Amino acid sequence: MDDKQLRCLVALQDVDHMIRERAKEKELGFDVEGVDELQKMREEIAKSIATPLLRTYERLRQRYEHAVVPVKNGICLGCFVTLPTSIGSKGKENITVYRCENCGRILYWLD
Ligand SMILES: [Zn+2]
Repeated sequence: MDDKQLRCLVALQDVDHMIRERAKEKELGFDVEGVDELQKMREEIAKSIATPLLRTYERLRQRYEHAVVPVKNGICLGCFVTLPTSIGSKGKENITVYRCENCGRILYWLD
């Protein structure tokens, strides 16, 4: 698992967020444009993500608004639990994908 995968995953989440926002606007009766483009962008990004990772993401997405969350000062910003230091420090150098032990979200480290 490399850094690019994680960045793609964060990008995918951003696009998903935009799609969701537009869907809400549409429900409110607004004229929403660009959804097709966003869907296309989503497919493109999804192609660069390994299938198991993508599956994990999709599963988490059904439970949480944010499936991929940043870690700051050793705290998972999804559930605000302090992560074990072993995860907290490993993640910075090693780019393997880590998941929060408490909430299961996929973690990434802010620089
Ligand atoms: Zn968490």
